Amino acid sequence: MADGAVVNTFDPYAVRAQFPILSRQVNGRPLVYLDNAASAQKPRAVIDALLATMEGGYANVHRGLHTLSNEATEAFEKAREIVARFLNAESAEQVVWTKGGTEAINLVANGLGLSIQPGDEIVVSEMEHHSNIVPWHLLRERRGAVIKWIPVKDDGSLDMAAYAGLLGPKTRMVAVTHMSNVLGTINPVAEISRLAHAAGAQVLIDGCQGAVHATPDVQAIGCDFYVLTGHKLFAPTGIGALYGKAEALEALPPYQGGGEMIETVEQDRVTYARPPHRFEAGTPPILEAIGLGVALEWLAQYDRAAVQAHEHALYQHAVDRLQGETWLRILGQAEGKGAILTFAVEGAHAHDVAQIMDRYGVAVRAGLHCAEPLAKRMGVTSSTRASFALYNTVEDADAFVDALIKARNFFV
Ligand SMILES: *Cc1c(COP(=O)(O)O)cnc(C)c1O
Repeated sequence: MADGAVVNTFDPYAVRAQFPILSRQVNGRPLVYLDNAASAQKPRAVIDALLATMEGGYANVHRGLHTLSNEATEAFEKAREIVARFLNAESAEQVVWTKGGTEAINLVANGLGLSIQPGDEIVVSEMEHHSNIVPWHLLRERRGAVIKWIPVKDDGSLDMAAYAGLLGPKTRMVAVTHMSNVLGTINPVAEISRLAHAAGAQVLIDGCQGAVHATPDVQAIGCDFYVLTGHKLFAPTGIGALYGKAEALEALPPYQGGGEMIETVEQDRVTYARPPHRFEAGTPPILEAIGLGVALEWLAQYDRAAVQAHEHALYQHAVDRLQGETWLRILGQAEGKGAILTFAVEGAHAHDVAQIMDRYGVAVRAGLHCAEPLAKRMGVTSSTRASFALYNTVEDADAFVDALIKARNFFV
């Protein structure tokens, strides 16, 4: 496990060796896993930590007066501190456990919804994941909120001038992704936050991709809320986190009711615990939270900038090899984008392309990528996506290009 030392020479082969699943075969070929934007694989450190907890230190948290419960509580709360450090939050009390990114956004939307008046405005962008659209649609349907859309430019960047023009006295919330799960665009989230605050609105940044591939420093960004999901960060499914500024969490009403989130319960009266526990009704995902803490500690041994440079080099290698292929349309070429390569192949359906690539052991995703308004904006009915992680290698990028060309030849 990580000892906090930073490894300066980034070696993807040494990283790869720590992921047991990456040595398996698919359809008689070595697995080339390029579906990381949907979910990432798990390193040995995380797998071992989950087993060790289940075998040696597991019980319910917080209410125990016995040793196992105390040990589990300590590990669980330590994981919260690790997430706080990962996000550069001021304190661990600003980190709320959720079951993923989706639940974190619903938690905020639900609380805000109680004070939404008809005509209040929510600003989102055209590149949002459905997780950061549909919770706001619920407020439109139920509370009469109005959704305003920041346009995406042809290169895949946000139209910041248009964004500034959308803000006004009725804007209550600006909810924008840190990094697009389709285009790879990394948005200017600090500037987005600054402008929103100047208009008196709150800001939620969807960091489900940004936490993995950009720099999720919540104090530098200045947002009120930041959302991440564990399973894209090499941790198990069923765990995510919501960061909130202290005053933003303090002002937010509870989301679900139950045990753990209360202070006192009487027949005609209830009082609530302080954040973060106010938002954590019921037995939390204990193992999953511990797993996320271990995953982030594991990740912290690698230099972020070196990882980002490595991932981008793989992306660029694939793009360079595909240069001049007129049948290929790449979606998203914004300056400084992350290592997500989404494309349409002329004359072929994205699902067919992905299925043919799978025959060569290459795992990519196809469809709308939970971003239907963006597909419409980019003028495609579906697309195929390869997304790189730190354990991918130049051999993976080459296998991807070779399989893509074979898939394309199938249709000509
Ligand atoms: C994956 C993803 C989500 C949703 O996260 P879940 O883990 O499915 O809840 C939201 N936004 C973006 C940008 C994502 O990539």
